[in-house]
Amino acid sequence: MAVYKNGQHEVSIAQVSEHVEKILTKEFDVMIARSDLSNDEYFFLVEHKIHWENLFDARGRAPSSWDKEAKDLGCDFGLSEPCFRGHRLRDRKGHCIQCKTANISFIRRSSADAFVYVAASKQGKLYKVGSTIDFKQRAVALRREQYAGCKDWRVICVCKVKNSGKTEFEVHKKLSRYKVSRTYKNAGQLTSATEVFQCDLKTVWQAYQVSVDWSNLPEKKKNRVDNFSAFDYQAAP
Ligand SMILES: [Zn+2]
Repeated sequence: MAVYKNGQHEVSIAQVSEHVEKILTKEFDVMIARSDLSNDEYFFLVEHKIHWENLFDARGRAPSSWDKEAKDLGCDFGLSEPCFRGHRLRDRKGHCIQCKTANISFIRRSSADAFVYVAASKQGKLYKVGSTIDFKQRAVALRREQYAGCKDWRVICVCKVKNSGKTEFEVHKKLSRYKVSRTYKNAGQLTSATEVFQCDLKTVWQAYQVSVDWSNLPEKKKNRVDNFSAFDYQAAP
């Protein structure tokens, strides 16, 4: 059944709901994993402070067709079809960022504020620092996916910043010596969570609050659970 006319083409309800379904499941199922990337791509991303978990999966898509979807999910970059030199990393406008790295700062300047959060799991005595445009949905996704093999993830502090992806990366860098890796099954597939941290809460908080400039953020842009200190698992290695 046709529901509306899109140029020359009639779009069916089935097509629309398939499209919506794709967007909704992105948070859960189509997170890019380290294993999807070549070493060159991985090192390029690290150098430019782009986390692969924040890449939009645009494989099989025309380069300039996924801007809005990616933006709605807070992704400025995607893993896409190769450019004429064979690179797969593009900004959401479809430009190759490996051919022209200046595209990275162009797109970042036009990106909306997003959240950088700390999530905690008592089960795994683990912390995760991430960025997202919807931290409530992300918390649900982490529990649903049983990220790093844990099902009790709670977001314990969150704030809204410009350049969230870059900020997230800075926190990761400060915590790099506490990084641990956990292998778990996600939708039947063996997956590695390589960016979780095991240390005391004070260490995480110190790295986080410096990177996001917590004390200078307005109250309405930041939030921390009341019983924050209850999430200290004292698991310093
Ligand atoms: Zn290229």
